[in-house]
Amino acid sequence: MPGFFDKSIEFLKGVGPQRAELLGKELGIFTYGDLIQHFPFRYEDRTKFYKIRELNEHMQLVQVIGEIRSFRMAGVGRKARLVGLFEDETGQMELVWFQGAKWVQQRLKAGVQYLVFGKPSRYGKILSMAHPEVEPVTANSQKGSHLQPVYPTTEKLKKKFIDSKAINKLLRVLLVESLPHIRETLPDEVIRSFSLTDKKTAITHIHFPTDQAVLRKATFRLKFEELFYIQLRLLKLKIARTERFKGVVFNNSQMLNTFYKEHLPFELTGAQKKVIKEVYTDFRSGKQMNRLVQGDVGSGKTIVAFLCMLIAISNGYQCAFMAPTEILADQHYEGLQVFAKPLGVKIARLTGSTKQSERKQLHLALETGVLNIAVGTHALIEEKVKFQKLGLAVIDEQHRFGVAQRAKLWSKNREIFPHVLVMTATPIPRTLAMTLYGDLDISKIDELPAGRKPVKTQHMRDSQRIRMFDFVEKEIRKGRQAYIVYPLIEESESMDYKDLMDGYESVARRFPDFHISILHGRMKSEDKDFEMKRFVKGETQIMVATTVIEVGVDVPNATLMVIENAERFGLSQLHQLRGRVGRGAEQSYCILMTGVKLSTEAKTRVSTMVETNDGFRIAETDLRLRGPGDLMGTKQSGALDLLISDLASDGELLVIARNAASDLLKQDPHLESPQNHVIRHHIDSLSKTVVNWSRIS
Ligand code: ADP
Ligand code: MG
Repeated sequence: MPGFFDKSIEFLKGVGPQRAELLGKELGIFTYGDLIQHFPFRYEDRTKFYKIRELNEHMQLVQVIGEIRSFRMAGVGRKARLVGLFEDETGQMELVWFQGAKWVQQRLKAGVQYLVFGKPSRYGKILSMAHPEVEPVTANSQKGSHLQPVYPTTEKLKKKFIDSKAINKLLRVLLVESLPHIRETLPDEVIRSFSLTDKKTAITHIHFPTDQAVLRKATFRLKFEELFYIQLRLLKLKIARTERFKGVVFNNSQMLNTFYKEHLPFELTGAQKKVIKEVYTDFRSGKQMNRLVQGDVGSGKTIVAFLCMLIAISNGYQCAFMAPTEILADQHYEGLQVFAKPLGVKIARLTGSTKQSERKQLHLALETGVLNIAVGTHALIEEKVKFQKLGLAVIDEQHRFGVAQRAKLWSKNREIFPHVLVMTATPIPRTLAMTLYGDLDISKIDELPAGRKPVKTQHMRDSQRIRMFDFVEKEIRKGRQAYIVYPLIEESESMDYKDLMDGYESVARRFPDFHISILHGRMKSEDKDFEMKRFVKGETQIMVATTVIEVGVDVPNATLMVIENAERFGLSQLHQLRGRVGRGAEQSYCILMTGVKLSTEAKTRVSTMVETNDGFRIAETDLRLRGPGDLMGTKQSGALDLLISDLASDGELLVIARNAASDLLKQDPHLESPQNHVIRHHIDSLSKTVVNWSRIS
């Protein structure tokens, strides 16, 4: 049965069909429920009244009461403006309008008291306020001091006079009608232990706060609720999965032991060993494993995955190893083959460019269980591909795979779900991991193999290009190889492509004696493969490329990474690119080339790169700079479309909410106790209204 909040917004007084359509299109507000959850993104402080003498140009929006003395026109052309001389008992300032002079003069009169609201600025000695809000002072002006909410709106809506104030007005109407229908959504116990405001009060105060204190309480309560429910859902998912899906028990580790004793090419780091132990514990638990391994670039995730696969194979199961690109799948295939050969482990590759005839054979080999490991791309999860006994799926560089694709993998084994090991080289801040992968267990490889020298990073301007090229030459003369990377951003693809080609030519001109590879997305995959191989074998010294080389590619002899137009890359991308070097024993370098003029944000990105190699620190900065929605690969997940919380700044609260949800589920895993009925009820209504909820997984 549709409830009060499912009512179409059209029926709210003051809306009607036309505005309703616009609100839906522009802001996704379709129902009463949508509108009541359209929260302000900031508040203008209308609690304090200033005197003109107190004002300065560093202040944000302020309000002042005074009188307009006179009007005059000043300036010509584009600078033509109406100036009103405004004063109170402490001083004078100018109110300035560049447009609408006529309208202003008709409406405002000299000699009358007005309340003006705007941002002070200063030209020379004169203090002024451009396009202030002006309203006549009434008996209520001073009493009605409040925090004025500012709502998200759009240009289109504003043109139809649905600005922030109009939205607030609609909310006033809606709130009165809504109050009897707003139900508490958190259990008493939770409300009490976290001293939360009740739901009705919180909703009222978020839209109509009387002062900062009540606003703080309302915000806290609503953020808590939002984060609590997200975490509760993720944790429930986890519980449900472990209960529903039995995991295959792998307790034979024979091949792992053999490999360890006889073929291990290097000593594992402590962190690698720790992760393998964690996985092995999962394998023996009888529960299906869903584990995320976070490890910075070069931390050695591949061998960890291989050792885990050996356990599955020792127990008679098959493994799938998925990579996001063909290049990577190929590299993994080749790398893994070296490990696999001495053990007699059978491994094959399946990607988009696998030939039809070969493909058929492969399918058969998988179905009959002849093959132990299939390495590939998305091609692996096609309907046609069937495994005889898939026991472990490894997904490398998770951010390119959606949760839905992960689920598809599971369905590859009918009776029992395979264990899933997700590996990501994009370190993500804890708060983000908790939300994006809140249903997974998380392992970290937080240690690099011994003997690695941290990459030295330098920032150079385009004017220092000659120096940069000299440095490239020096490195190559030492026998090393270099990458020169260009941005490729979809919207401007052909422009970027031209940049890349120009770049290639100038590199070729500068280094006539060197062999140069080129790699970009427009090339056929055989050609890409060919170029990549030449570089891997050391036949070419320089690789000019777009970001196709970004993920996972491993050429230990490459010690120099030059990133052109570095200001156009995001932090995590820069970090990924830099991770392509520093993989061998030699000192490696990263040069960030930029133009002269950089935005503040770009400056922070570049300086962060120069200062640190720590992927987790970089991820934190990235989150702070861009907000969670823009972080690499998280965009399409939609998991981060939060109504009120902000994962960048609400990390602490997130942890509190997750712990609260976890404690609650520990006591009542199926939410059966009477005091938790509100939760069940709320989850039901959420899943019905589609709000927020269905977007999460
Ligand atoms: P990533 O975590 O970025 O996927 P890789 O698995 O590609 O890293 O490993 C990077 C390089 O380090 C590879 O050449 C790999 O063989 C090597 N490597 C991995 N673990 C160790 C170790 N414990 N000691 C020395 N080298 C290692
Ligand atoms: Mg890797």
